[in-house]
Amino acid sequence: MALIVQKFGGSSLGTLDRIQHVASKVMATRAQGHDVVVVVSAMFGETDRLIRLANAITHLPDPREYDVLISTGEQVSMSLLSIALNAKNCDARSFTGPQIGIQTDDVHTKARIQEVKTDVLQRELKQGRVVIVAGFQGVNEAGEVTTLGRGGSDTTAVAIAIALKADECQIYTDVDGVYTTDPHLLSDAMMIPHISFEEMLEMASMGAKVLQMRSVELASRHNMPIRVLSTFIDGPGTLVTFEEKIMQRRLVTGIAFSREEAIISLSGISRRIGLEGLILDRISQEAVEIDMIAQNATAQDTVDFTFTVPRREYAKAIKIIEGLNKDLGSFAIKTNDKVAKVSLVGVGMKSHAGVASTMFKALGETGIGIQMVTTSEIKISVIVDETLVEQAVKAVHQAFELHKIPSPKQEQLVE
Ligand code: ADP
Ligand code: ASP
Ligand code: MG
Repeated sequence: MALIVQKFGGSSLGTLDRIQHVASKVMATRAQGHDVVVVVSAMFGETDRLIRLANAITHLPDPREYDVLISTGEQVSMSLLSIALNAKNCDARSFTGPQIGIQTDDVHTKARIQEVKTDVLQRELKQGRVVIVAGFQGVNEAGEVTTLGRGGSDTTAVAIAIALKADECQIYTDVDGVYTTDPHLLSDAMMIPHISFEEMLEMASMGAKVLQMRSVELASRHNMPIRVLSTFIDGPGTLVTFEEKIMQRRLVTGIAFSREEAIISLSGISRRIGLEGLILDRISQEAVEIDMIAQNATAQDTVDFTFTVPRREYAKAIKIIEGLNKDLGSFAIKTNDKVAKVSLVGVGMKSHAGVASTMFKALGETGIGIQMVTTSEIKISVIVDETLVEQAVKAVHQAFELHKIPSPKQEQLVE
């Protein structure tokens, strides 16, 4: 008998029929003799609806109240699933994050889990019940409800799996695994049976929302394997584990993209030691995530400093920058909030030159201009106009032949 954590995303819980289907899947796992903890997201579209309500009142809602509001979606789906299970004579109980004791820091809207208390979970499992937990939410030291950032139910599931030393953490969604790129964008994307934590982390942080980045980070830190599976089609899914276990791989693994980016460029900043650090520090103090950064010298005493932020943080970032402009002397602010980021990911890049040139050539030949570039050991990201994402992904996918089953030539053995 194993202990299995199963997380069902919003797309798996969109309607009452789907909730009934999820209930049957959970019961099938119980029938195999396993203990099950289920983590649920809100019903499909519900979190977006709640966010729209708050934003219709103000663009900068009070963070405490915002978290109280957007955490309610999960409370609806957890109780509906529990009602469905009990109606089928399967003993189940649902709990909110605070009821379980999912302790977080106090950064509202993107809190980090600090501890998962296990007493309630253990007590309920011992009674032979299916335990259903609301994903995406926790409680801070002051007893306030917090939320974990969009897609945060994945992280709830991984954190619970780690705390309970579960045998498996299964993430059920509307696709049957992790693909070379979003299969809803490119129909010839290929399923990846096995991916390393390192690559999955880059894919997720660059926009592949099939797993929330923090869930992968946490799983990798505690060596908790994650399996991504479809709620609707049976299959082995994708296993996310350490690299040593993956025997064969391609030069590059996949392409992630994020449509919702914004570039902020500050030009004519006086060249003073430490000024860039000060600017970034002020922005990150407000919990705005800065991603790509570039700096170039222009006139003798000034520099241009350019960075990207997620588009949802654009208004907040601009407000901070305008404040800095008053404090640090004047510079010109140029922005473009209609850009997207396309990232090529693969551990094979570590040992192979020429990946960037192949990528840039493919984009150039398709007539796509690159506005900004950053690289890491296993990733190359470019900023392009938001209308060109699909074309860019297609061109790069084709250039690396990701639509083909890897031939021995494309594969390399990992030492
Ligand atoms: P859930 O509601 O189950 O949490 P999400 O919408 O958060 O589901 O994540 C699943 C979606 O992730 C898929 O429908 C797919 O469009 C998208 N996605 C993006 N990149 C990838 C990828 N590389 N592989 C699989 N799915 C991806
Ligand atoms: N319901 C939340 C969201 O839409 C959390 C999740 O789906 O994981 O972001
Ligand atoms: Mg999700």
